[in-house]
Amino acid sequence: MLERSDEAEPAPSLRPHDPGLLDLARRHADAWLAALPERPIPPRATIDEMLDALGRDLPERGEPADAVIERLTERIEPGLMAMGSPRFYGWVIGGTQPVALAADWLVSTWDQNTVLRSVTPGVIAAEEIAGDWVLDLLGLPAGSSVGFTTGATTAQTASLAAAREEVLRRAGWDSARQGLAGGPRVRFIVGEERHGTVDLAGRYLGLGEPTIVPSDDQGRIRVDALRAELAAGEGPAIVLLQAGNIHSGAFDDLGSATQVAHESGAWVHVDGAFGLWAAASPRLRHLATGLEQADSWSTDAHKTLSVPYDCGIAIVRDVNAVAGALSMHASYLQADGVVADPHDKVLELSRRARGVPTWAVLRHLGRQGVADLIERLADAARLIAEGVGALPGVEVLNDVVFTQVCLALEDDAATEALSARLWADGEVLAMTSRWHDRAVVRFSVSNWGTDAAQARRTVAAVDRALAAVRAGGA
Ligand SMILES: *Cc1c(COP(=O)(O)O)cnc(C)c1O
Repeated sequence: MLERSDEAEPAPSLRPHDPGLLDLARRHADAWLAALPERPIPPRATIDEMLDALGRDLPERGEPADAVIERLTERIEPGLMAMGSPRFYGWVIGGTQPVALAADWLVSTWDQNTVLRSVTPGVIAAEEIAGDWVLDLLGLPAGSSVGFTTGATTAQTASLAAAREEVLRRAGWDSARQGLAGGPRVRFIVGEERHGTVDLAGRYLGLGEPTIVPSDDQGRIRVDALRAELAAGEGPAIVLLQAGNIHSGAFDDLGSATQVAHESGAWVHVDGAFGLWAAASPRLRHLATGLEQADSWSTDAHKTLSVPYDCGIAIVRDVNAVAGALSMHASYLQADGVVADPHDKVLELSRRARGVPTWAVLRHLGRQGVADLIERLADAARLIAEGVGALPGVEVLNDVVFTQVCLALEDDAATEALSARLWADGEVLAMTSRWHDRAVVRFSVSNWGTDAAQARRTVAAVDRALAAVRAGGA
């Protein structure tokens, strides 16, 4: 405990700026970052232990700011997961590049409510430049609407809101004015292996349960089945394609599927939460061939690009469709030369300038550095797959085309034991999932610090965990 917390001064400080306080936070941040690469990855405490440690009772009288920060950092530490570790492969979670962290601190410091171009032009200019760069890097149409959201879930919800209104408008129904009831039903057509948040977006938007089209063995939507599904019905339709399956990393055949969908007049949205970034690598861009023909796209900066949570990106080709759905003033046709404000492109009104760390990362890496980052992740995934695939009894289930590796042992119990052993060891974190009716251990290589050396260390850790499982030590 700090001595100062016992002093009788009035607790809350009205001093506008206390450099000592930020120094204190920075020292704790430095300690966390220095220990991060070697820190055991899983938390050591449960949520109940954390609730007790932080103290559940609201104090009658406050305590000094530095004491609050000391309490927070000391007590919370056992409950932190080392998600930024270069050997963290759980779910699909990115780390934080140093330049993005520094920019993010400044975003909080400046505290700009990022709503109107005329009011906070500094951070909005950085976001607009970042948006143009993202379009350029991904080969998407210049002039598309780019909005910064909390994640890919809200990015796809925002994009699909534009899609819903536009396909209904083409069918002669003004949903902004008339609502959905009584209008034509929008067919929401998805692949069998879409991400769970796609269904959520459909629910938020009143589209109901999606119509599911079968996928192939890598989880790619079957284009022949999509064609048949589109032909079997009529009326407004939205087709959701995927760039990057969370288990296999596979990409739908975006070019062919988009062509088929467009022949039926459907709107095509691409969920590329992590996979869209393949398009920024000359070596991997072939995975996303045809990407630019879609109508809207969603991705994350907080995954592959490794900016701090949270930052997703909603991209829509037709800026008028976005304005129709998301502008507060519902101006269907923007006057020439009028540029949409940030709040016209996303679901949020008040928000932090979360696009600024993306600007910083892109400025720092440049086009070449982004390509290197994406290729480093894909190379590390291939090394992990080759290494673990050579271990006795380990089967790599997917074609490793991008950043995802799914392995399984001879039966589900053994696979789950391996995952539990890895968790207990703490050096590598990869989560159990289910894919094609089998338990799998999934590695998502999404951290900017994961390179060939970390991949080799990962294989060695899996080897040790496997030996322990085989020896009955799980
Ligand atoms: C992570 C992910 C999402 C959801 O993104 P959030 O940033 O968590 O909202 C959607 N689709 C895919 C393919 C993902 O990997």
